[in-house]
Amino acid sequence: MRESELDVEDVPQAAATGEVPETARIDDLLAAAHDRARVHTEGTVADYIPILAEADPEAFGVCVADVDGGLHEVGQTRRTFSIQSISKAFVYALVCGQLGHQEVFDTVGVNNTGLPFNSVIAVELNDGHPMNPMVNAGAIATTALVPGATATERWEFIRAGLSRFAGRDLTIDDEVYRSEMATNGRNTAIAELLASYGRIRSDPDEAVDIYTRQCAVSIDARDLAVMGATLADGGVNPVTGVRVVSATVCRDTLAVLAASGLYERSGEWLFEIGLPGKSGVSGGLVTVAPGKVGIGAYAPRLDSAGNSVRGQIATAYLSRALGLNIFASAPHTNQENPG
Ligand code: GLN
Repeated sequence: MRESELDVEDVPQAAATGEVPETARIDDLLAAAHDRARVHTEGTVADYIPILAEADPEAFGVCVADVDGGLHEVGQTRRTFSIQSISKAFVYALVCGQLGHQEVFDTVGVNNTGLPFNSVIAVELNDGHPMNPMVNAGAIATTALVPGATATERWEFIRAGLSRFAGRDLTIDDEVYRSEMATNGRNTAIAELLASYGRIRSDPDEAVDIYTRQCAVSIDARDLAVMGATLADGGVNPVTGVRVVSATVCRDTLAVLAASGLYERSGEWLFEIGLPGKSGVSGGLVTVAPGKVGIGAYAPRLDSAGNSVRGQIATAYLSRALGLNIFASAPHTNQENPG
């Protein structure tokens, strides 16, 4: 989305070189971000997975979790929805933690394909290399790398790992899982195509089944904020104090999100918001300001690439007003806000 669509042309950009403001100020700015985004009714709720079409288009919540474990919430932050593509970011981190930097780089890749998340042609254009772990092909290939002796063990690795990121026990929304399994032709085709190129070593049907389960995990905006804050805090969940992944894995995951977190709109997102983020088709959006905060947003109306419209607007406001954009500095000899 452009600056004008994001409704932030009048919001001065605070430099990202300082600390985040104190609690009361964060709460005020969060309320302002919510007010600003709430009036926007552009976009449409996803319906290619039948159950997603039943979402309330007006549902809207935003949560900021800071690296001290503080939570700031506005709107419907406890309304549950399926994590969908956002799982790709966290499963990628969990798999990187097991296999290491180089192996995941070689097997899955780190580049943006520039094509929609469910593109089959992207696989063909790259000799079957998935290229991008934040779209379906790369995510299915990543899920196929999950360790475990059985499918049950591999699924539990994911469920338990996502739960550690959120700091609570997460479970599947069965209705979402069944609805997506019944309409999963594209993902099945992508997995078979990857297997035909020798790019996934496990059974492709199992990889699709586990990938679909991970997408159906039920979360809320507060969970997303805590999950994001864990990536902002060098891999330690700031609410539970539990180390989930290493600081190196956080760094690598955030680099991949910066390049590809908002599908083929990742460049414009980075240009306008200046932070790693990841969206999902149910309307969730997680954004990470390293060393500072995680932002979780939920609003089901999407832009044409599949990114939450209100989520992007609220996050754009917070990035500017809280001084989060990682590219925004001020001369160190003159601490004036660059505006
Ligand atoms: N489960 C969805 C799919 O595979 C996830 C897509 C998304 O959130 N972009 O199509």
